Amino acid sequence: MTIAAEIQDTCVPKESLAVWSLGQAGFVFKSSKGTVVYVDPYLGDSCNQLYGLERLLAPPLAASAVRADFVLATHNHADHLDPDAFPVIARHNATALFIGPSSCTNAMRELGIPASQTYTLNHDDVLHSGSVRIHATFAHHVWGDPDDAPDAVGYMIDFGDVRAYISGDTLYHARMEGIADLQPHLAFICINGRWGNMPAPEAAHLATILRAQAAVPTHYNMFANNTADPADFSSALASESGTVQPLVLTPGQRVLYPERDAS
Ligand SMILES: [Zn+2]
Repeated sequence: MTIAAEIQDTCVPKESLAVWSLGQAGFVFKSSKGTVVYVDPYLGDSCNQLYGLERLLAPPLAASAVRADFVLATHNHADHLDPDAFPVIARHNATALFIGPSSCTNAMRELGIPASQTYTLNHDDVLHSGSVRIHATFAHHVWGDPDDAPDAVGYMIDFGDVRAYISGDTLYHARMEGIADLQPHLAFICINGRWGNMPAPEAAHLATILRAQAAVPTHYNMFANNTADPADFSSALASESGTVQPLVLTPGQRVLYPERDAS
């Protein structure tokens, strides 16, 4: 079965969340209510065209096969808001809502996504829609470089029974410690340790401060010059506290959290 078909066919049990990694910082979530949320799907090859950065992992599904209720971008860099993938996804998802901070929704409209299908969430803005609550959280993707993304966000997505925090690209910042109040069950945190992102030890520290039950390392294995070893994140989590379980996802493979049988 293709992963597009699997996402469509998966019936998620109550109090659980299905998650698929797309590689880099891309994830698909499906809730027990059937809501499908994509975050930062890098499904094209735009970083190769723009910067000569070849992808090391093939996309687990084609942009044209995406069927989503919400498509979120954390910031306007091509490995997150992919200018190849987003317009194709929009053409096949006439009722999906495309969400991001101002720089992203501007870029989405420039890519031809209808304004009526875009919705801006800047730091601390919240959208309640259907059975999900999407809260744009503070991120600090600023490292004194022309590529700085000062309005980059993370997201806390409350699916009704499971809450997932996605850091987006960010350095460690004390302001993110307040996200603990939103009580994430799952935390997805970047670990690549360069160009404005945390290294594994800081990512593990953040997951521990947030008191997540499990933490997923992100942003590695896609580009040869910008990767990290997820095993370093797992061992950093163990030495931080041992209370947050590492959850290393294989691109394209379905995981249910908490672990249980799906149909
Ligand atoms: Zn990135």
